[in-house]
Amino acid sequence: MSLPRIQNLVDGRLIEPASRKYLDNIEPATGQVYSQVPDSDERDVSLAVEAAERAFPIWSHTPAAKRSRILLRLADLIERDLEPLARAESIDTGKPIVLARSLDIPRAAANFRFFATGILHFASESHATDDIAINYTLRCPRGVCGLISPWNLPLYLLTWKIAPAISCGNTAVAKPSEVTPMTAYLLSQLCIEAGLPAGVLNIVHGRGATAGDALVRHPRVTTLSFTGGTVTGRNIASIAGPMFKKVALELGGKNPNIVFADADMDSAILESVRAAFSNQGQVCLSGSRIYVEHPAYDAFLGRLVDAAKRIRIGDPLEESAEHGALVSRAQFDKVNSYLQLARELGGKIHCGGGPPANLPVRCNAGYFIAPTVITDVDVQCRIQQEEIFGPVVTITPFDNEREVIGYANSTDYGLSATVWTRDVGRAHRVAAALQCGTVWVNCWLLRDLRVPFGGMKQSGVGREGGWEALRFFTEPKNVCIRIPSSS
Ligand code: NAD
Repeated sequence: MSLPRIQNLVDGRLIEPASRKYLDNIEPATGQVYSQVPDSDERDVSLAVEAAERAFPIWSHTPAAKRSRILLRLADLIERDLEPLARAESIDTGKPIVLARSLDIPRAAANFRFFATGILHFASESHATDDIAINYTLRCPRGVCGLISPWNLPLYLLTWKIAPAISCGNTAVAKPSEVTPMTAYLLSQLCIEAGLPAGVLNIVHGRGATAGDALVRHPRVTTLSFTGGTVTGRNIASIAGPMFKKVALELGGKNPNIVFADADMDSAILESVRAAFSNQGQVCLSGSRIYVEHPAYDAFLGRLVDAAKRIRIGDPLEESAEHGALVSRAQFDKVNSYLQLARELGGKIHCGGGPPANLPVRCNAGYFIAPTVITDVDVQCRIQQEEIFGPVVTITPFDNEREVIGYANSTDYGLSATVWTRDVGRAHRVAAALQCGTVWVNCWLLRDLRVPFGGMKQSGVGREGGWEALRFFTEPKNVCIRIPSSS
């Protein structure tokens, strides 16, 4: 039986890659190949960029209200197809279908809705220079944008780039992760159905080293928005920098979750479990380093371990599953290597520590790792410093505010942090001292699409989200008009 084949979206049509070569797409819950994804190369990227260039003059002058209507139609179609999209995302990623249905897919629709309406209200600045001149700023679309996204929240993160890029009049070539291409392919079909003009959005599938690299290097791609690993981001920056491209990089994280003894412990434990293990811990914003103030440490650890053990691991397509498979064999091996390292360093593994027992037969060859809680590893060791990107959390006690701020800021990353306390003054002090792009106080992953989103240090440069994204995807051009004096 031949496997379903994904196609590229180029110039409004679904087409094969130039090479006619395909990569296997594996279902992580079973370890079996279930579809094939184009192994595109620079020829496909060139075709897509040319199509995007041809579409740009008309799309960039299409009234905002019309662009908005098309994107709202796309949001409606995503909502209409919630069930098949959620199923595809669950099969592609190994995440529980309940999560894909309740979070990933609705948020993809929300991204289109947010920017489709945002563009109607987007305003630019004007500055009066005394009574001498008026400056006003035009915000011009930048041309062809290259959008490269990862596998952990595939449709959500891809649309988080596509929606702002095309809503403000750019055209785009998107390169989804080759590990999880299916929802991007379904989106291609919906773009055609929604009446998005040919060439406005092109989606080229393939490997990072070939299709991704060709997109980054293409001289007529003016703007790059990348979400993925820090090493890849550094590589992209080194190519795009000398070409003077505008680049936003959303990279890895190793996010501290700080629990003071005065916190509402029921909420802190509930949300810390979610922050550690949602999506099998494969969220850039995961709270993977927990620090607990001494008086609360023993009780917190006991309750968190109990809660982690109660998480229902199972076939992601089953409604009851709360925890599915890691996305790939490579990710499974990487996480296992960190678990091995934790053992070698003398860490204590309180639960998890490897594949769970009693998986359904269908999932026997899947890439499952049970939620894992580790203590007794030094704050400076690799387990606490490097991004594991799996269902693994460390818990470390601390004595005071100063000490924990030092721990929190000790990594190369600076994406997000969470603080649990009832003391408002302390919440403000600690939030101000943390080196990261987002601090959540007494919550985790509460997202408002209007706020700037991004990282400090090696978690990236640039900000996406809200007006920041519309600013990123437009070029400010200042017009200065002298006001003639009356005589
Ligand atoms: P990755 O860097 O391996 O791949 C991301 C994308 O880049 C994929 O589409 C890949 O094909 C492409 N790519 C790889 N090499 C490339 C190259 N040389 N040139 C151009 N493109 C290339 O990352 P991943 O493993 O897919 O995703 C996991 C990482 O993403 C984690 O580090 C995670 O923290 C990060 N992430 C960050 C955010 C954020 O908002 N900061 C969100 C989600 C994930």
